[in-house]
Amino acid sequence: MVAGLDEKLEPIYQEVLHRNPGETEFHQAVREVLETLGPVLVKYPELADRKIIQLVCEPERQIIFRVPWQDDKGQTHINRAFRVEFNSALGPYKGGMRFHPSVYLGIIKFLGFEQIFKNALTGMPIGGGKGGSDFDPKGRSDGEIMRFCQSLMTELYRHLGEYTDVPAGDIGVGQREIGFLFGQYKRITNRYESGVFTGKGLDWGGSRARKEATGFGTVFFTHEMLKVRSDSLDGKTCVVSGSGNVAIYAMEKAMELGAKVVACSDSNGVIVDEEGIDLDLIKQIKEVERRRISVYAQEKKSARYLEDGNIWEVPCHVALPCATQNELNGHDAKALVKNGCILVAEGANMPCTPEAVRIFSDAGIAFGPGKAANAGGVATSALEMQQNASRDSWTFEHTEDRLREIMVDIHRNCYETAEEFGAPGNYVTGANITGFLKVGRAMMAMGVV
Ligand code: GLU
Repeated sequence: MVAGLDEKLEPIYQEVLHRNPGETEFHQAVREVLETLGPVLVKYPELADRKIIQLVCEPERQIIFRVPWQDDKGQTHINRAFRVEFNSALGPYKGGMRFHPSVYLGIIKFLGFEQIFKNALTGMPIGGGKGGSDFDPKGRSDGEIMRFCQSLMTELYRHLGEYTDVPAGDIGVGQREIGFLFGQYKRITNRYESGVFTGKGLDWGGSRARKEATGFGTVFFTHEMLKVRSDSLDGKTCVVSGSGNVAIYAMEKAMELGAKVVACSDSNGVIVDEEGIDLDLIKQIKEVERRRISVYAQEKKSARYLEDGNIWEVPCHVALPCATQNELNGHDAKALVKNGCILVAEGANMPCTPEAVRIFSDAGIAFGPGKAANAGGVATSALEMQQNASRDSWTFEHTEDRLREIMVDIHRNCYETAEEFGAPGNYVTGANITGFLKVGRAMMAMGVV
């Protein structure tokens, strides 16, 4: 069942469907926000008069371009790349680049749309944008990755700038790719413009704790959600999907706060280790060797590998989806409810389908949406920009403390806004309204632009 939209919002949604045909993930992301904005228009009719919702649904600029490159055998490949500069009311466009074969305009638009509200929630001066390519980095050599990144940046550089648009990583884009992209930007522009990219290496303008930030932030947010229920992570069983950057550091912080993490996954399968996941082994396999998660079960006797397994059928108290969009559906949500799960927080962007979110809500499970729960990554990117602007480099402890404060603030703002708008405990409502009001007010102030 799909929840109804407010009568003022339904035509806006229909217009989005009409103007963006076939972009199903974008439709889903827009609908989720519109479903929560009804009470905002009642309280602030001037936002409706100025068509702020319609404006926020239309990207300021969309760039689509060809990326030709040659593989190690001299074969030519042609990929397509995107940068959607969605909203710059609060600061330069900010958001990651995703390299994955599933990338098309609808994925980048959903990510860019979410990024507007997420970035607003951080309280930092950053607008919303996102980019990526349908390039598949799996199995590619360092040389191939470098040539692809250089070709992409040869076009993209003209659209970037520390006051204009500041990319970072996302799925398939880590420090190695950021290095190649930044290197080519530096070469073409002849500027050492540290603040034009975040997620850089520590030796060349990166921030301590940026790598850990998304996963750590998700767990800080989870900790706050449990705290208002007079509970904690101590002694909880936890399941974390994925085994990339977000998942690894979500596992690390959850363990530090006393949870036992018993499962994680990659796109081929799931590992379950009732003794608790050995994080050093995961880091060795994923960060150093860049191999599949199945290797874990060959190395560790207590673990089982479930090829094509469903991680959400592994019993847990806390579930952290940290892989990709729509990875947790209604069927999975029912399995989690049945097995006694009490909390779900999204480390990835939009990993839970709308049906799954409704099932959690009906079952009284605390649900932290990605816009709020995974905002720690981009928040720390803004801290990296701050360090670059002042040519400074902070300690790990200081940066992590700032991240923790930001996540506590996001949680409090979402919690209080949900109460104010008559939806106590509903973090989806709280996050959407808080983010929307911040951006909407700035847009109103700046006139019709
Ligand atoms: N890709 C991350 C996200 O989804 C981080 C973006 C950034 O640091 O700019 O928020």
